[in-house]
Amino acid sequence: MILIDGKKAAAELREELKQEVADLKTKHNKVPGLTVILIGDMAPSQIYVRNKEKSANEVGLKSEVIKYPDTVEEKTVLEKIEELNNDETVSGILVQLPLPKHIDKQKVIETIAPSKDVDGFHPMNVGNLSSGYESSVPCTPLGCYLMIKKIEPNLSGKKAVVVGRSNLNGKPMTQLLLKENCTVTITHSRTKDLKAECLEADIIVAAVGIPELVKGDWVKKDAIVIDVGINKTENGLVGDVAFDEVSKVAKALTPVPGGVGPMTIACLLKNTVECFKRSQK
Ligand code: NAD
Repeated sequence: MILIDGKKAAAELREELKQEVADLKTKHNKVPGLTVILIGDMAPSQIYVRNKEKSANEVGLKSEVIKYPDTVEEKTVLEKIEELNNDETVSGILVQLPLPKHIDKQKVIETIAPSKDVDGFHPMNVGNLSSGYESSVPCTPLGCYLMIKKIEPNLSGKKAVVVGRSNLNGKPMTQLLLKENCTVTITHSRTKDLKAECLEADIIVAAVGIPELVKGDWVKKDAIVIDVGINKTENGLVGDVAFDEVSKVAKALTPVPGGVGPMTIACLLKNTVECFKRSQK
């Protein structure tokens, strides 16, 4: 079984991006810039943002974090986003979620210029992705896609089952697999027989949030299994896939932690570089 090493894949992607950023600097005499807006002092958000900033600096991006207290008015945040939309030194804008209740998440997402939407959440990017046009793609499914492609470069005709239909993971993952000519089944909490659906799959991507939902006897021999889930349990962090059981049947599997997680941040950097390149065309 191939244990898909997300840390190694992310390090390789960062190395590629570092070289690309250096080349862009030579060509354009400027580097891509990522600005993150962080509202409030929730510990996980603070940690995510710190890691994003560290990784951005590592590959040579210009990075900036704008912090607001959780009492900040929605208007102040929207005005700042408008200002960043018009700032030529900013290639990508990310507003760290979740937001305080008094701030309308959808309004925030839709205020970010689609060309700077490095999270790929703007309806314009969602639409472009589903139409098969160039777009920013949400970072977690993009990371899953890149890891699948490393294991199996030609996905045409493969059967893929995506477990979970969130806007963040399941839906964009489905679009990426469709673009590769997979036959994709998207499953969710109302799916009648999830085990039977999974047993059909050459590729399973589980993004549910239920510890070890996908069992060993749900997986076809030699399937590729990508585990997006991050679940805190008494036994520590586990994914949505029963790792020990599934590792006995799968051809390749991502661990939790150390699988999808590290690739997510590396893909944020990739999206920032892509936004910059599109802005220079
Ligand atoms: P979500 O709660 O928005 O969506 C969960 C989806 O799972 C829903 O579509 C729901 O229909 C489906 N679902 C629920 N119960 C089900 C069941 N019994 N059978 C089949 N489907 C079922 O979750 P999300 O934001 O997509 O996150 C999913 C998981 O991925 C979480 O554990 C989250 O922490 C993790 N996550 C990881 C990363 C990463 O970088 N590794 C990033 C984002 C989210």
